[in-house]
Amino acid sequence: MYLNTSNIKLKVPAADEYAGAILVKNLYLSCDPYMRGVKHRDASTNAQDRIVFFAADQPIVGYGVCKVVDSKHPDFKAGDLVWGITKWEEYTLITNTESFFKIHHTDVPLSYYTGILGMPGMTAYAGFYEVCKPKKGEKVYISSAFGAVGQIVGQFAKLMGCYVVGSAGSQEKVDMLKKKFGFDEAFNYKEEPDLNTALKRYFPEGIDIYWENVGGKMLDAVLMNMRLHGRIAVCGMISQYDFEEHEGAHNLMHLIYKRVRMEGFSVFDYYHLYPKFLDFVVPCIRENKITCVEDMTQGLENGPASLVGLFSGRNAGKGVVLVARD
Ligand code: NDP
Repeated sequence: MYLNTSNIKLKVPAADEYAGAILVKNLYLSCDPYMRGVKHRDASTNAQDRIVFFAADQPIVGYGVCKVVDSKHPDFKAGDLVWGITKWEEYTLITNTESFFKIHHTDVPLSYYTGILGMPGMTAYAGFYEVCKPKKGEKVYISSAFGAVGQIVGQFAKLMGCYVVGSAGSQEKVDMLKKKFGFDEAFNYKEEPDLNTALKRYFPEGIDIYWENVGGKMLDAVLMNMRLHGRIAVCGMISQYDFEEHEGAHNLMHLIYKRVRMEGFSVFDYYHLYPKFLDFVVPCIRENKITCVEDMTQGLENGPASLVGLFSGRNAGKGVVLVARD
């Protein structure tokens, strides 16, 4: 129903139009590389994969941590803290609460629910334990290792008793991988003239598990260094997100020679494990067995620059935009 005033047309909501909806105040917004990558996907992927993150004249859509300020949903009430898919604005009306989780552990920073306790942490957990199926002592390589997902995968692998090597795009990130996260080795891939030689230096006997965040030339070099019965968890391929024509991998025959299992996965298929994940990770954080580094940007107006920064490596750690503290 519409009300016509002299020159403004006002939409008057029907009584039940907002049934099941919640109004949230956005506190922290998450910068995630896949927000860019989804534009290449086709209709054969599942519904959540096809969320439109960018549309002209619309706020960006993405994960965030929010406070419920009003609710017409029986499971949420004003004051609840939640995380899920929201919009890059101060307040958002959420008509579909399917992606939302209530936040119960508030003795950790709330921003962690954009990272280590949110979608990236869940990605690391599902991909490492369910897809890689790691064993103690295995040799693990992680590309883009200082990023939101990579830093957690590396720490899970260390907890499992694996030998862990990560690569990142600056000396500062490389140093932090070893000092902050306890990686056994780390290197700056931008300074390696030949990635194959670099990997042979750190994995003379080959790689059991490769955590793929990057794709392109990195994947090609890794393929030549996999061990017999190795596993490649294809989490992301950030080097390919900007290309309409994707770079082809040349060394795929190594999948056959080494009997390697290479598996792409989406975190959207694993959210049923979220309670189990929290039971595991929250005590690890409290006991300082796992930690994280955030790259916090202040203010909604500075968010887009932070998001773009993911694609040049300007972020150091989990990209988060602080909109409001409470
Ligand atoms: P990051 O925090 O790792 O941020 C992106 C980083 O990627 C940058 O800091 C930069 O680090 C690196 N990078 C950017 N461009 C390139 C390039 N051309 N070549 C190599 N490295 C590059 O992101 P996330 O941890 O959030 O995500 C990691 C990957 O996982 C992404 O590919 C993402 O799309 C994917 N993902 C997949 C999910 C799934 O369900 N499968 C869910 C979540 C994420 P540096 O300085 O080291 O170059």
